[in-house]
Amino acid sequence: MGLVVQKFGGTSVADCEKILAAARKAVRAQQEGNHVVVVVSAMGHNTDHLIELAHKINEQPPAREMDMLLSTGEQVSVALMAMAIDTLGFRAVSLTGAQLGIRTDSSHTKARIKSISTDRIKQLLEEGNIVIAAGFQGIDEYLNITTLGRGGSDTTAVALAAVLEAEACEIYTDVDGVYTTDPRVLPEARLTRQVSYDEMLELASLGAGVMHSRSIEFGKKFGVPIHVRNSQADVAGSLIVNDPEAPGEAVSGAALTRDEARISLTGLPDVPGVCYQLFAPLDEKKITVDMIVQSPSADGRADVSFTIPRDELKATLRVIQPVVQSLGGTISDCNDNVSKVSVVGLGMAHQVGVATRMFQALARAEINLQMITTSEIKISVLVDRAQSLRALRAVHEEFGLHRMPDNAVQDPFAQIGKIKRQASPVDVIQRLRGVELEGLTVDNIGLDETQASMTLLHLPNYPGVAAEVFRELAGNGVFVDMIVQTWNSAECSDLTFTIPRDQMDAARRVAKQLCEKFTGSRIREMSAIAKLSVSGIGLRSHTGMATGIFQALRDANINLEIINTSEVRINVAVDAKDGAAALARLNERFVGAMK
Ligand code: ASP
Ligand code: MG
Repeated sequence: MGLVVQKFGGTSVADCEKILAAARKAVRAQQEGNHVVVVVSAMGHNTDHLIELAHKINEQPPAREMDMLLSTGEQVSVALMAMAIDTLGFRAVSLTGAQLGIRTDSSHTKARIKSISTDRIKQLLEEGNIVIAAGFQGIDEYLNITTLGRGGSDTTAVALAAVLEAEACEIYTDVDGVYTTDPRVLPEARLTRQVSYDEMLELASLGAGVMHSRSIEFGKKFGVPIHVRNSQADVAGSLIVNDPEAPGEAVSGAALTRDEARISLTGLPDVPGVCYQLFAPLDEKKITVDMIVQSPSADGRADVSFTIPRDELKATLRVIQPVVQSLGGTISDCNDNVSKVSVVGLGMAHQVGVATRMFQALARAEINLQMITTSEIKISVLVDRAQSLRALRAVHEEFGLHRMPDNAVQDPFAQIGKIKRQASPVDVIQRLRGVELEGLTVDNIGLDETQASMTLLHLPNYPGVAAEVFRELAGNGVFVDMIVQTWNSAECSDLTFTIPRDQMDAARRVAKQLCEKFTGSRIREMSAIAKLSVSGIGLRSHTGMATGIFQALRDANINLEIINTSEVRINVAVDAKDGAAALARLNERFVGAMK
């Protein structure tokens, strides 16, 4: 007998009609011959109302009591859902997080699942019940109620699907599935049939918003097919699995993170440990740093730019000001009117010229790029907020995202039930021990010793410059891997890229010509760098991952030349002679987190 987990979000259980409609879906799945576990969120905006209520009483409510309060939202909906199934003439039992046996750590309001005991759920299912599980909550080792963070019911659902080895986890929501970009922002967005976990992870943490990003991390780690669909309309929806919708497509989604702020620092000493000193205090304050970029320095001084959520700008400046001052640097610029536009696609890992196409499309739209970071499957640029929608549209159009690719998977849902779960070591060990289900998984620490880097210092800061640089490089057969652009001032920026070492001569010829054209700019070369990349699951939701890398390298007295971050991967480049030592340090540091 198959087992299905169905999750209904707040809007899908907002009133009695909707609860009954959801109950019918659960009953139908049972009648089709499945065991059914239903996970529900609080009704409508109930969680928001509870938060408001708390703040009317106490401006800074104790986190433990917040969890006590917020967990009631889901307790209401599970009871009502069980009653709804009963009234349809079927059997259901509702369970809270504690009754489900969901054990978490003690970080109230953002707890992580440590283990789930399945005995009781299995027993109830065997007895013919539909089990209704309260999303978003658990208990810690002292039986305190905890919650998993806003949107955490998705994580409960996928986690239950993982430990119960469900065929699929169905996420019922108020949209039809996963779109190529947010359709409320861009009406030409297209509903996708299938998205890969990796793409979804990048997109989810970009705020492409359908799902809680930790739930995708879970799905990937345990190989749970996640089926996102509309609870109000009979649309097929989208499936999140290992493979993308159409193999070979360079770009499969685009996203806009509207409310970002950029801080640019200049004149920092170019010695080991500086980044650690900068970012560790931000971690302590739980400020999530998003993009971090650093180019190789000129004249022994380094520039770093990074972004944070817009509403964290003041807090960040307060923390960072004394540190920057003590290091002898300055905050050269900050801007809270910026947005990040990103494109994501598994296919870009194996194609050349994807970044150039993106930059060219943005140049045609006359949009200036303030920062650039790239990872294997994502390119992000920072632009002025007023231009951000135009930028998103330009890239969506450029990559033809509104059209279904010719080789798109025909019937993705035919896979459900047939996908063989790879029993990965993480899987087995963690299920046996029942510990750290949501722990950080670093799945790869790589060292690439084949590359060199080139920086074009002081390029003019106007639309089209990056596009021209990469068009020229590509035209001369230079294969660019990583791209990093920092912000110097309103007038200029530094653009760094890595290339195979044996292409340095070709790159230099192109760079010289560009420098003649862009007067005032100069070239800095590093003929041999070692690129280290740490990739895995949970990098983004574990604040401090980047800081951990910075710390490990500082302890080894290794200087960072280039930094480039994404949701699922952090890249740093160091001098080639330090490559092996850096790799050893990172292995030492993260080996416990590796499977
Ligand atoms: N009710 C919680 C929230 O609104 C959890 C969830 O909906 O997933 O954040
Ligand atoms: Mg919700």
